[in-house]
Amino acid sequence: MSGETEKKYGGTCIDCKCQLELFEVDFEKGKRIMHCKSCNLYHFYKKDFFGNWKLKKAGRVSDFWKKSK
Ligand SMILES: [Zn+2]
Repeated sequence: MSGETEKKYGGTCIDCKCQLELFEVDFEKGKRIMHCKSCNLYHFYKKDFFGNWKLKKAGRVSDFWKKSK
C-alpha cells in the first residue's frame, strides 16, 4: 500500500483533490509545475536532496506570472 502515491507522477490538487496534470518540468533545476484542470490551480514542486518532490507553493497563474517578470 505504501509507495502507491509516490508512483503517481501527478498527485492531487490541494484545493479540489482532482488529478493534476504535468504542466512543466525542469530536471536540471529539479523543478516541476503541475496544473489542476478542474480549478486552474498550479502546484510548484521542488526536488529535495533525496529525490522526493516537495510541494513548495500553489497558486493560480495570475498570482505568479505577473510578478515574476
Ligand atoms: Zn484543483
